[in-house]
This record gives sequence, structure tokens and C-alpha cells, in this order.
Amino acid sequence: MSSGGSRARGRVPLMAGNWKMYKTSGEGADFVRHLAGELGVANDREVVVAPPFTGLASAVAAARGSSVKVAAQDVFWQAEGAFTGEIAPGMLTDLGVYAVIIGHSERRQFFGETDETVAKKVRAALDNGLLPIVCVGETEAEREAGAMEAVLSRQVPKGLAGVVATEAGALAIAYEPIWAIGTGRTATAEAAQQAIAFVRSQVGAVLGEEAAESVRVLYGGSVKPDNIDELMAQPDIDGVLVGGASLKVETFKRIVQFNEA
Ligand code: PEP
Repeated sequence: MSSGGSRARGRVPLMAGNWKMYKTSGEGADFVRHLAGELGVANDREVVVAPPFTGLASAVAAARGSSVKVAAQDVFWQAEGAFTGEIAPGMLTDLGVYAVIIGHSERRQFFGETDETVAKKVRAALDNGLLPIVCVGETEAEREAGAMEAVLSRQVPKGLAGVVATEAGALAIAYEPIWAIGTGRTATAEAAQQAIAFVRSQVGAVLGEEAAESVRVLYGGSVKPDNIDELMAQPDIDGVLVGGASLKVETFKRIVQFNEA
């Protein structure tokens, strides 16, 4: 597989697909087997797919021994208890799940996720050895009002409220401008770079410079085969979180196999 090895700073590119509420367990397993076969050995980047909860076990089984890892799309912060419908971090690691998406804008928008619940979930994920992929990003109205930096400088420190500096390398942040999610409108590579550099500066403000240098910051929002190379050529973009284009092996494979300028 082609190398993304020119990336400095030791931040391994993280290429993650969020399947949202798509794919049965069998479809997910077929996808993982197919993708793993196409990718072969990929040790210069991390490749992650996030099926719905019902598809986690079969995806983990299909990924075994391959370069593909599996993430959940959400997690609860308690270890167990009377929390109908919720899934504990230990239940995910028990299945062999590697990572978890936390605070996706759809969870914030439709399911009452707040910066405070994000922080609790991030802490619980880290405590259980799961890699949290923490989503942040502004709405279109916020962007138009010139409030992008204000939103990010609230979401990043609040979401990382329970994190200590030495843990920065064990988590990832996905900058996902909400107006770019599922719309076909991607932030330009330059705008994404600028916002992501700002996210990194916010990590620096709360956790220090070393943490800012080691945290991986991803871009998400209508990532496609035809814009991935330009995005990954940006110095602060350490990977991507992909929705629609992660549902087909061919398109996701091309994204994973980005060509770095
Ligand atoms: C997402 O849901 O995180 C996302 C980025 O979706 P899409 O790639 O379809 O815009």
C-alpha cells in the first residue's frame, strides 16, 4: 500500500468510516472482509470502521488479523446499571472494539448530547482503553455569524475537561463543520486546515504544547475520493472521519489510500 510516511511529528494518520444507521451485521462483516483483503498490510495508517452497535461483533470477527479496526458510534459513561438502551465502555472492549465516536453532531442535534456528556464519555472511554474520537464543529449559522472560533473554543476545552496532558496521544478530535456533513459541501482544504490548526491551539491552551503536538485532529464533512488528497496534504490534518463515502468499499479504500503531496 502506498505510504503516507512523509507525515512528520509521529501522528499516524487515522482514516475512520462512520456507517451511522446503515448495514446489517452480515453486510458489515462482508464489507470488512472485502476492505481488509483490498488493503493488505497497512501499518503506516490506522483504518477504522464504525458500524451500528448490532454490527460490532461481526465486524470485529471479520477484522481479526487484518489492518482494519472497529469503532462504536457512541458509549455511555457508567460501567453498568439501570440505564435502558445504553452501552457501557467495558461492553465494547469485551467485544474487541478499538475506538468510539463521541459527540457526533447528529447525537448533539437529535439526542441531547452536550459538552458535559461528551466529557464524561471521553473520560470513561479513556479509562477503559478505548480511543475516543471526539467530534466538534460549528453550524452554518454559527459560521455565518463569525462564531466558528467561539464554538470550537467552547467545545474543545469542555469536551476534554477530564483529560490530562499525557493522554492527548490516546485520543483524536474530529473537526466536522455541520454544514459540510452529508451535504456534498466540503470545507476547502485551506479552511479545514485553518480550523484544525485552531482546534489544535485549543488543545494547547488547556493541555499544553506537547499535548497539542501529539493529539490527532481529523477533518469530517463530505470527504470523497476526489478531495482526500488535498485534505491529507495539509500539515495539521491527521486523518478523516467519513460518513457517506465510507459505505462503499471502493470509495472508502481510495480515501484510506490517499496520496500525500
Ligand atoms: C459524518 O457523519 O461524520 C460525516 C462526515 O458524514 P459525510 O462524510 O457523509 O459528510
